[in-house]
Amino acid sequence: MPVEQTLSIIKPDGVQKNLIGEIYDRFEKAGLEVVAARMMQLTKEQAEGFYAVHKERPFFNDLVSYMTSGPVMVQALAGDDAIAVYRKIMGATNPAEADTGTIRADFAESIEENIVHGSDAAETAANEIAYFFTDEGVCPRTR
Ligand code: GDP
Repeated sequence: MPVEQTLSIIKPDGVQKNLIGEIYDRFEKAGLEVVAARMMQLTKEQAEGFYAVHKERPFFNDLVSYMTSGPVMVQALAGDDAIAVYRKIMGATNPAEADTGTIRADFAESIEENIVHGSDAAETAANEIAYFFTDEGVCPRTR
């Protein structure tokens, strides 16, 4: 399995529900290592840029309002097959369709307020990590 990095965001509803530690525990139990982290309040421009791929979707303005409604916790995760491993523990976009025991099944309120973001492919992961972290901001484990 390839060692990969992926970009994770604990969205404003996850931070509001005080789930940072619970979600980090799930990363670690799944074998994912946090290699970069920052808490931040996204600006409208940052949220629009991050979700630019969705700008024609009817929910885009609501999504930007949601993502700027409170602070988020942004992290890069590393591990074997990290992109797929993280998508699996996140669960489906719509929590009603998410597998039992996934983060979204356990904590999300709706298809919009769904607690976490995770990159969906290697190229988007690289772009999304670079959106929030410089090379020096990512600290691959040395032990
Ligand atoms: P993800 O990769 O599972 O996060 O899903 P997408 O990339 O398709 O969508 C990005 C984010 O937009 C989701 O995580 C939701 O927060 C939001 N979203 C997706 N689909 C819908 C929808 O049909 N309605 C609303 N209101 N929000 C949505």
